[in-house]
Amino acid sequence: MEKIVVIGAGQAGSSLVAKLRNSGFEGAITLIGEEPVPPYQRPPLSKKYLLGEIELERLFLRPESFYAENGIDLHLSQTAVSIDRAARKVTADGAIYDYDHLVLATGSVPRQLPAAIGGDLGNVFTMRGLKDADAMAPQFSAGRNLLVVGGGYIGLEAAAVAAKKGLHVTLVEMADRILQRVASPETSNYFRELHNRHGVNIMERAGLDCLIGSTNVEAARLADGTELPVDFAIVGIGITPATDLAEAAGLTIDNGIAVDAQGRTSDPHIWAAGDCASFPHDGGRLRLESVPNAIDMAECVAENIMGAGKTYVPQPWFWSDQYDVKLQIAGLNAGYTQVVTRKGDKEGAASFWYFKGERLLAVDAANDPRAYMIGKRLIDAGKTCDPDVITNPEIDLKSLLK
Ligand code: ADP
Repeated sequence: MEKIVVIGAGQAGSSLVAKLRNSGFEGAITLIGEEPVPPYQRPPLSKKYLLGEIELERLFLRPESFYAENGIDLHLSQTAVSIDRAARKVTADGAIYDYDHLVLATGSVPRQLPAAIGGDLGNVFTMRGLKDADAMAPQFSAGRNLLVVGGGYIGLEAAAVAAKKGLHVTLVEMADRILQRVASPETSNYFRELHNRHGVNIMERAGLDCLIGSTNVEAARLADGTELPVDFAIVGIGITPATDLAEAAGLTIDNGIAVDAQGRTSDPHIWAAGDCASFPHDGGRLRLESVPNAIDMAECVAENIMGAGKTYVPQPWFWSDQYDVKLQIAGLNAGYTQVVTRKGDKEGAASFWYFKGERLLAVDAANDPRAYMIGKRLIDAGKTCDPDVITNPEIDLKSLLK
């Protein structure tokens, strides 16, 4: 009987095993995950779960019984430690698994602040898994001082939750502006104003010199010498792909585990999907850190293991929730040369449209699901639109779809 082993029981791993069974794979499936709970949704961790608005079980991607019912051997609290490519075996703590196909769905790990600048003090948290959210949740009581390091979506979402709960929040971003890596100045302005309205102190061009404290963090010193009192800190300074196992096995790494258009690594018996994998795109390589990419790529790889021969073509989208704003993003804005803004119908709604020359690349839509939907349809179809139409409130966006 054919054996498929999947390392990593996150969104990609879970989607992959489900897709294998849906597509009629009848061999053995083993899913190995180091966390103690079945695969769950991560995005609510920095939002609803932290606010205490959603129960743990509701985060599970599939009920725990799903795996046994579908003949999927789910091994929780187990870490894969090495891959023997010649013998096609995976060693995990406590077990050895043979495979015909191995899938690496190892995800990513949050960057930590170096211990030399206080990154290892108590009450300094990163946000990635359930245990991180559970560890920091008790810190969220009104009146406490939270320092958020990093103004990406993770940092901003944590800041929003804390502000809602009545904490004093300061966010330090070392770049010129929050969201600089991922969004336009217009989008950064929108979110800076939103956070300022909720009392968050956003400090840009603010390098963190160090965190100070004896056991737990007590203060932060910034590069300009400013000192801030800190009861706890959340570090959201990006993630790195989890490539250790692949690297130790001698697989090609290039901004993540390098795979071909179908999701195969440099070893034809080993595949990779999700945050950990970089795939060919536009003459280079692309690695996406998003739930839709984890699902779509995993499903594509599942079909390819069964011989479908499909090229993985992402149709990128992403979202972020902060206060009462839902941001929806379609497309990839890398290389944009122009951004135009459209005000939405509702108070506070706006969308930011990215163009490279005449080509529409991406749309960031804040509380404007229509702009998002129309932008996404155009981008997925490889169509563009006239920036003057976007900025003209007299013209209905729907006319773009004709
Ligand atoms: P995430 O997914 O964690 O939000 P991003 O890479 O999108 O990751 O955002 C992380 C942000 O943190 C970037 O805007 C980056 O400039 C910022 N950053 C990185 N290191 C530091 C640091 N030491 N101090 C302040 N900001 C930092």
